Amino acid sequence: MAVTGSSPSALTPPALWDQQLIAKYDVPGPRYTSYPTAVQFAEDYTIEVYRQEALDNLQQTISPLSLYVHIPFCQNICYYCACNKVVTADRRAARTYLDYLNKEIELQSPLVGKHRTVMQLHLGGGTPTFFDGAELTELMHLLASHYKLTDSERREYSIEIDPRTVTKDSLALLKGLGFNRLSLGVQDFDEQVQTAINRRQRYGMIETLTEAARLYQFKSVSYDLIYGLPMQSLQTLSATLEKTIQLSPDRIAFYSYAHLPERFKSQRAIDRLDLPSAAEKLAMLSLITEKLLAAGYIHIGMDHFVKPQDELAMARHEGKLQRNFQGYSTCLAPDLVGLGVSSISAMPSSYSQNERVLASYYQRLDQGELPIAKGFKLSRDDQIRRTVIAQIICDLQLDMTAVEKQFGLVFSEYFSRELLALKPLESDGLIYWHGDKLGVSELGQLMLRNICMVFDKYLQQAEDQSSPLRFSRTL
Ligand code: SF4
Repeated sequence: MAVTGSSPSALTPPALWDQQLIAKYDVPGPRYTSYPTAVQFAEDYTIEVYRQEALDNLQQTISPLSLYVHIPFCQNICYYCACNKVVTADRRAARTYLDYLNKEIELQSPLVGKHRTVMQLHLGGGTPTFFDGAELTELMHLLASHYKLTDSERREYSIEIDPRTVTKDSLALLKGLGFNRLSLGVQDFDEQVQTAINRRQRYGMIETLTEAARLYQFKSVSYDLIYGLPMQSLQTLSATLEKTIQLSPDRIAFYSYAHLPERFKSQRAIDRLDLPSAAEKLAMLSLITEKLLAAGYIHIGMDHFVKPQDELAMARHEGKLQRNFQGYSTCLAPDLVGLGVSSISAMPSSYSQNERVLASYYQRLDQGELPIAKGFKLSRDDQIRRTVIAQIICDLQLDMTAVEKQFGLVFSEYFSRELLALKPLESDGLIYWHGDKLGVSELGQLMLRNICMVFDKYLQQAEDQSSPLRFSRTL
């Protein structure tokens, strides 16, 4: 259950935040889709390590499975993009890729067996709907013939939709193929912002698809939006929020734009001067939270808002929320198998990532090898810290006694450095204590990454060695 004590720090209007405090918390930091984060993955992680853990699991577990399939192709480039994608107008790319996915599935599926029900399936990209209806059908057939797909009501089968690439009929096909959740890439409704990010899509397009999704009875429609984009202001964002609320999606993910042009080439098309400042971004985040809460949504944690009747809201209330690379979930399996170029797989004590470049991914499969390029084997300390960080992100609290029981340690001794480092966050109103539980205040919810960072051993090590790791800024 969530911490029941009331947060002593109500949401401070960011306008009242002084520049010193903003500068203090606007630092580079991970988004914690995993711990340790992907920057720790290394090439000394071998296929053999992966194969051994997968085979041990195969013999020991009958628990469900999560599948992720990455489809990297996009017809056009969005300037803000930080995804692993291949921009092409050549439709034949899809056919070739499907053939290689087939090869990977042939190698991969015997390692998990066909007895474990796939409760969670996610097609992401790139643009999964770069595949046409026949190709998507073939992909689902391929998955169904190698893994145990289910039609259980509890399944979460979702697909990311670029609204510019689908029609109402495509949604009917997706429903027929077993998908019950749609994630629409909306980003922003403002035309000037859309031009600045090279992603023009009319409001009517989103409205039509949202209505069609309801007609075909998808269990949930989620919108992906971004704040901190070029040409965005509190006024344009306010209008986007009103349009969003009017269309009433079940879930809203509102991500912070991370401007890293030195890492992502397409972002060099964005003029830094058109971007809002850290203070403006914080004001935007506050506006988003305020408007969505007023419209009845619940802020379940990092970047995510849902309607009160949504399963995620209930799971959050019951302290059963989970999170992985694809976001929050109620039925996360212990193992996530990632298929396709750059996909990440997660097992209880390791992460692994496929080749990130398409040619290398194809080459490895042509050699009859699993296309794993790097990975990470978790130590006991990593597992303890992963649990702590997951609690903060999913439960918005940290139950020290539960961690002590689970791992047989004395929290105040094991984390003495971290408890000291939390003191300034407490003074600044990001966290508060309720008995042996740390609670995240409303203000702290806007800065979850900063709270998690206190428990990140790799950030501590980098700091001690004065060699900062490369991440986007937290605000
Ligand atoms: S944001 Fe999505 S659709 Fe746009 S280029 Fe990146 S992966 Fe493709």
